[in-house]
Amino acid sequence: MGERFAGSQAATRAVRAACAVAPPAAALAHIGPAASWLPGPRRRWLPGLAGRGSPCHVALTFDDGPDPVSTPRFLDALDALGVRATFFVLGENVVRHPAQAREVVARGHELAVHGWTHDRPWLPAPARDARALARAAEVVADVSGRWPYWYRPPYGILTSGRWAAARRTGLRPVLWTAWGRDWTREATAASVRATVAADLRGGGTVLLHDAGHASAPGSRRAALGALPGIVADCRTARLTVGPLAEHGVAGAPPSRP
Ligand SMILES: [Zn+2]
Repeated sequence: MGERFAGSQAATRAVRAACAVAPPAAALAHIGPAASWLPGPRRRWLPGLAGRGSPCHVALTFDDGPDPVSTPRFLDALDALGVRATFFVLGENVVRHPAQAREVVARGHELAVHGWTHDRPWLPAPARDARALARAAEVVADVSGRWPYWYRPPYGILTSGRWAAARRTGLRPVLWTAWGRDWTREATAASVRATVAADLRGGGTVLLHDAGHASAPGSRRAALGALPGIVADCRTARLTVGPLAEHGVAGAPPSRP
């Protein structure tokens, strides 16, 4: 975090140079320094938890859907941009709007698990966490035809109980490296684009929202309006934008069509 690629010609040149060849070793060099203080297993997994992937790729992710009104707008915008993304959905939204969830998959995007409801883990509840996560994974598998791989807890709060529940459910936790603060009342397309750009670099994972859980009215418009600019910023820096499935996170299975 903290390195701007937008506005920094030197940084852009460096990314272009690295991404022109894209050797697998570059990914290791990219994640190595940030994790070098960690003991063995964590060194391997924590960069992945942040969503660090190939230095030539940016993962685009959306949380809180599906929503029958706002999600189709994001799908249309992504089609127009020629970009696919990962949608972290809530189980309760999938059972309310199964057709919308199937449409996300039909348009070539990846479905992932955000939880059953968008609750805060005020008190430890490992058994309830495990049941809720398994139920959410099952409804996602029902609409997508495959067991999901990624799990992002609501608010990014990964308690030990939720971590254990994810392991038991066969899900891999992943957070983000850059967000757009698109849920706030003050958010505009320009502010979301600039906020993402401030923390984004090759290998990063971007968090936006395609639905409005507890977010300000109109905040979806800010994220939607920011999308073309965010994708353009990435492409200017020669970064490919896509789903987590194609992000090259260490230890993740190869992308499946
Ligand atoms: Zn959320």
